[in-house]
Amino acid sequence: MENNDLMEKIVSLCKRRGFVFPGSEIYGGFANSYTYGPYGVGLKNNIKALWWKKFVQDREDVVGMDGPIILHPRVWEASGHATGFNDALVDCKNCKKRFRADHLVEDATGQDLEGKPEEMKKVLDEQVDCPNCGKRKWTEVRNFNMMFKTQLNTTDDEAEQMAYLRPETAGAIFIEFKNVLDSARVKIPFGIAQIGKAFRNEIVAGNFIFRLREFEQMEIEYFIRPDADWEKIFNEWLDAQVEFAMELGAKKESLRRYEHPKEKLSFYSKKTIDVEFNYPFGFKELFGLAHRTDYDLTNHAKFSGQKLEYFDAEKNERFVPHVIEPTFGLDRSILVALLSAYVEEDVNGETRVVMKFPKNLAPVKVAVFPLLKNKPELVKKARSIYEKVKSRFVCEFDDNGNVGKRYRRQDEIGTPYCVTVDFDTLEDNTVTVRDRDTMEQVRVAVKELPEWIDSHLNGSEK
Ligand code: ATP
Repeated sequence: MENNDLMEKIVSLCKRRGFVFPGSEIYGGFANSYTYGPYGVGLKNNIKALWWKKFVQDREDVVGMDGPIILHPRVWEASGHATGFNDALVDCKNCKKRFRADHLVEDATGQDLEGKPEEMKKVLDEQVDCPNCGKRKWTEVRNFNMMFKTQLNTTDDEAEQMAYLRPETAGAIFIEFKNVLDSARVKIPFGIAQIGKAFRNEIVAGNFIFRLREFEQMEIEYFIRPDADWEKIFNEWLDAQVEFAMELGAKKESLRRYEHPKEKLSFYSKKTIDVEFNYPFGFKELFGLAHRTDYDLTNHAKFSGQKLEYFDAEKNERFVPHVIEPTFGLDRSILVALLSAYVEEDVNGETRVVMKFPKNLAPVKVAVFPLLKNKPELVKKARSIYEKVKSRFVCEFDDNGNVGKRYRRQDEIGTPYCVTVDFDTLEDNTVTVRDRDTMEQVRVAVKELPEWIDSHLNGSEK
């Protein structure tokens, strides 16, 4: 399958089957905004739950929190976002299309000129034609701050107050460092985890849900002693990130690690590595991992006037912890799960499209069908089974069309098990259970069905 085809197929399946809809569609659409539909929100919630279980519940050293989207504006001065969170943009004077100048330069020359607008402009004028219209008429390269601004208290007689929608979730974590320390019994090394929306006014959004202006992040700030063996801790987090990507369904060969070269690192960072995935449009960032030293806590202490330190009672020492930051994009995780699950199989000369999600991520676990819609006794029995199963597993009842059509629909949703009630059921109280991946069918006693499903979903079946 051609890669572009795969992306197109995913986008169309997502719309057709209710995973992801283009945003504000009835108003003619709204660029780069998307709605997670009935199955998309199921998949998204399952990914969040998997992440929370793996990185918070299963770990003694990580606690969770949920902070506001709009924080005190000083937070972004302290973090450097107010002045430094810029992308370089350039417009084509001929067709008026806008581009990321650094991306154009990098594509044309392989050079990374981030932060050097004049040099970028020189390369553009000498070597780069507009990818849209083919002309070479560039404006100056300008810095563009990517934070969304909003106003508080905008009644006439009150001074307008400017605030930002957070461009990452991490800021909210750092400013609660002391509260968490004082309220939860955490001992260094420890982490604080958060899942939530972040907003960036991306100059060029696109590639479906890969680059959005409004997206969700799952982030951990992991605080360590300044003299800790940080490389070991860093590598453990990196392995955990790769493991999580594989739990989304990514194959090992579709993942790689990209270490940011020393000269490109922010001045405070000791090491930054991206976990990249091979999307249909090439290897690009999925997750990031950075050693941020004591930069954030030190700056928030400076800007807030509050001490943000850790007291080690055993060693009778007070210090500002260093931090390792594993960050995960939720929307990119969803995209990876969708791309990795998509399979086309030839079945008796016909193409079967099936989403082979890891079973724990599948938005629907079981579908129950009566063999025939117009046989009330079958429908009644199927409904009673559906009622029994649905409080334990996300379950759908379907009596539309024929069974073949229902299978096709559930395959595209990625439902691991389909249960069919037929005339034998009325005799011996057993049903047919069909496996999504093998398409094999087995007879299971109705009274054993919930346990059967449970053990097959979690892989503990005999
Ligand atoms: P990129 O280089 O792709 O712009 P970034 O390095 O700016 O990403 P980070 O600041 O490290 O990204 O953000 C952490 C994570 O948040 C990323 O690994 C990615 O999964 C996700 N993310 C960042 N920007 C977006 C976006 N515009 N849309 C969707 N997800 C995003």
